[in-house]
Amino acid sequence: MKCRELAEFLADYVNQELPLESRTHFEFHLSKCKNCHEYLVQYEVTIRAGKIACDEMSDEIGAIPDDLVKAVMAARSKV
Ligand SMILES: [Zn+2]
Repeated sequence: MKCRELAEFLADYVNQELPLESRTHFEFHLSKCKNCHEYLVQYEVTIRAGKIACDEMSDEIGAIPDDLVKAVMAARSKV
């Protein structure tokens, strides 16, 4: 698996929707590739930040900063 392929599988991996075989390749690559490991960490932080923002601001949806929403959407559509 190449780095670019890993990026394509990232969303499915994080959502635990990756088939076992792809998951094995994915995790093998991650264990060898520092860049992709850091990319995954960044991705998870972004997703988590989005979820925390939604939880904390559920009473005032309009208060979520546009920049944060765009960053989360960009992270989701990129992979
Ligand atoms: Zn890689």
